[in-house]
Amino acid sequence: MSDLLVLSDLWREFPAGDSTVAVLREVNLTIRAGEMVAIMGPSGSGKSTLMNILGCLDKPNRGTYRVAGKNTADMQPDELAQLRREYFGFIFQRYQLLGDMTALGNVEMPAIYAGLSAPNRHARAKALLERLGLGERLGHRPGQLSGGQQQRVSIARALMNGGKVILADEPTGALDQASGREVMTILKELHAQGHTIILVTHDAHVAQHADRIIEIRDGRIVADQRKESSTTTATAIRTPDTSPPPAQGSAPRPWWQHWGNWWQSQALLEAAQMAVRAMLGHKLRTLLTMLGIIIGIASVVSVVGLGEGSKQKVLSNISSLGTNTISIMPGKGFGDRTAGRIRTLRNRDAIAIRQLDYVDSVTPVVTISSGLRYRDTDVSASISGVGEDFFRVRGYTLEQGQGFSTESVRRQMLEAVIDSNTYKSLFPYGDEALGQVIVVDTVPVVIVGVTAPKSSPMGNDDSLNIWVPYTTAMSRMTGRDYLSSITVRINSKASSAAAEQGIYDLLAQRHGKVDFFLMNSDSIRQTIEETSMTITLLISAIAFISLLVGGIGVMNIMLVSVTERTGEIGIRMAVGARQSDILRQFLIEATLVCIIGGTMGLLLALGAGLAFAYFSSNNFSMVISTTAVAGALGVSTAIGMIFGLLPARSAAKLDPVEALARP
Ligand code: ADP
Ligand code: MG
Repeated sequence: MSDLLVLSDLWREFPAGDSTVAVLREVNLTIRAGEMVAIMGPSGSGKSTLMNILGCLDKPNRGTYRVAGKNTADMQPDELAQLRREYFGFIFQRYQLLGDMTALGNVEMPAIYAGLSAPNRHARAKALLERLGLGERLGHRPGQLSGGQQQRVSIARALMNGGKVILADEPTGALDQASGREVMTILKELHAQGHTIILVTHDAHVAQHADRIIEIRDGRIVADQRKESSTTTATAIRTPDTSPPPAQGSAPRPWWQHWGNWWQSQALLEAAQMAVRAMLGHKLRTLLTMLGIIIGIASVVSVVGLGEGSKQKVLSNISSLGTNTISIMPGKGFGDRTAGRIRTLRNRDAIAIRQLDYVDSVTPVVTISSGLRYRDTDVSASISGVGEDFFRVRGYTLEQGQGFSTESVRRQMLEAVIDSNTYKSLFPYGDEALGQVIVVDTVPVVIVGVTAPKSSPMGNDDSLNIWVPYTTAMSRMTGRDYLSSITVRINSKASSAAAEQGIYDLLAQRHGKVDFFLMNSDSIRQTIEETSMTITLLISAIAFISLLVGGIGVMNIMLVSVTERTGEIGIRMAVGARQSDILRQFLIEATLVCIIGGTMGLLLALGAGLAFAYFSSNNFSMVISTTAVAGALGVSTAIGMIFGLLPARSAAKLDPVEALARP
């Protein structure tokens, strides 16, 4: 009969303040395959510590522990996990079952880490539970089972992967006598079938079931008695499994290599199921954790969607304007603050430009900042002084009346043309507008025309526009002698680039310097593209920050979750989970939280888009592209993986013994 577990000169010390306290001293112990050993001793004598070392949950400080001839000191954490998984089966005084799993789920757990397929796993766990008289209780949770039943579930779990060596730490300690007897009967049966049983107890009656009783006191073995009757004869008949442990002495694996089996679909599915179970166990908290991600993704997707929608709308309006107008304005470009002080743009310039070949028509523009009054109604409108060609230049058609004549402009007539929006707000009942007098900047003018509706370049269809002759605006209203801008319509056959160059040269020569800038609809388009790019970047930065905050929230809750579930992690490690299994479980949980949060955020944004389309008057809609959807989901996944890594690693690095000791 072979020596299965061999401890030589083994010490286990724990730090106590500045010094250490020895809990196991100079332990020499050999356990053969197929033995049934009882370990007895007073409380605190080191029995559990010894069991933890035997089960490869803990390591000695000095001395060696060999399992089937292999020194455990040379093994990597993963090999030790493999030993626990495939060689040992633990039975604890307090059962150590996972409360949110069924009996079947608890029994199956070691096989998940051993990589057994789901159908095989179900079948084996079911058979084990049936064998232990729990065939009717497969779907019960530990809380719904009696102590004796729970202990039988934990025995089934210990046997799930074979359980060649059963380590039972006071298995009857928490049970009534009848249940305790039942458990002992089962352990004896297992012994008879060839399992090696190591049993801690302080009950002499229980110990009598064993072939061999070891007594331990203050960390030393003080007695080791074999019952003469059983050992030689009985073990000769039995053929216990003494094959060497499966651990291979492979080189240490860095943690990132654990990612090698990351995408094994089986393991992934199991981890995802575990994660879902954990999330369902804390629904409210999971939802609150997701909130940061939900809000982050929803706001980014909807704001980007709105920006894209309004951009498309504006661009389509610009296309409808055509590309054959050029505006000349004072200053160096949009937003030039000195532009207001430049007074060199004159009507003479407009007249000179009109002489150029490729010019179809030209209008000076003088903008007036003033209110508008009609009878008792005050409205704010944009009021401009324009030339007689203005309506042709800008492509307006007149619905009622007419535009300004050369005569009106020359004689500074008190006339006005209003647009259809102004007509609607001043004459809501559709009264005759022509001939009515409105007051602009204390100057009464007569309405001579109403333009037909036309979408304006900036997508703002609600603005009110009023035009008066520019001469009237300059001399009678503003007292200015310079223009705000000049708008030129290019001959449809001319190239706008050539026209632009011609106008530029002419004005530069006339002014002796370049104190103006030209703008055609192409450059407006370009400006809008650039602006929307800037805004998108800005939003992306805000999104990044909000998602960062969301990610930190996820990390925070996952850290709390790891702390709360330390006991669970300990149990999983005891039944043979590798560090990478624990890492993967928490990482998948964090990622899943973020993906679900991201999906909810996306749905929220889509809902907001529909609501916007329904309620908005600005007939443009939110544009949510597939790129945005894919981006949102990708970003959520990345957040989960990045921010889940720290909690997951802290879970994976837990010490199994310490983790098990937590409630
Ligand atoms: P038993 O199971 O025989 O009752 P244990 O093996 O659990 O005893 O503990 C033996 C002694 O070791 C106790 O005095 C206990 O306080 C101490 N001990 C156990 N684990 C630790 C630890 N992680 N750190 C410090 N002391 C420990
Ligand atoms: Mg103990």
